[in-house]
Amino acid sequence: MAVNYRRCPVCGSKNSIKIIYGYPGPEIMEKAQAGELKLGGCCLFGDDPEYYCKDCESQWNKQQALDAAYRRIKVIKASISRYFRDRYNVEINLENRKVTVTYWDGGEEEITRKTIRQTTADKLPEQIKSVNLLFWKRRYVDPLTLDGTQWSAELLSDERTIKIYGSNQYPEEWDAFCRIISKVTGKSFR
Ligand SMILES: [Zn+2]
Repeated sequence: MAVNYRRCPVCGSKNSIKIIYGYPGPEIMEKAQAGELKLGGCCLFGDDPEYYCKDCESQWNKQQALDAAYRRIKVIKASISRYFRDRYNVEINLENRKVTVTYWDGGEEEITRKTIRQTTADKLPEQIKSVNLLFWKRRYVDPLTLDGTQWSAELLSDERTIKIYGSNQYPEEWDAFCRIISKVTGKSFR
């Protein structure tokens, strides 16, 4: 799983503890006194924070941690390659908003570069969240099909790179992902 909910969305620290609700028993009380967890009180309001940052005192829940993880993605790369037929390579940089699409179908390679609008770049984290990109498996491989179609997706943030590889097998959201890439780049990707 690619999301660390304990990471503080504000300062990036992983020095966080869980917030516990309800009436605390002696064990919980002891842990709270030792600073291993934080007491959240007895009442829940629906979107209560679940984690507390010991470094900057921010509080957040899983949903906010997930949004922050998608917003930290700086570069998205994706590729599709069909043996002896065609090949797509896409790179979207959300920091400088530069997009490069390389397409090859047997002839000369076609390279398109453009700069996307700020509003388009701002919307992208929410869009890739809608296809659950951070929850995709690392490999989707159909062992019975050779050649055929290979694809990849890569997510780069400051602290890490996530690489996903596929061969003739796809996550459920693959088509929706391809539509997002096509729309952002203005070029076919499928
Ligand atoms: Zn923090």
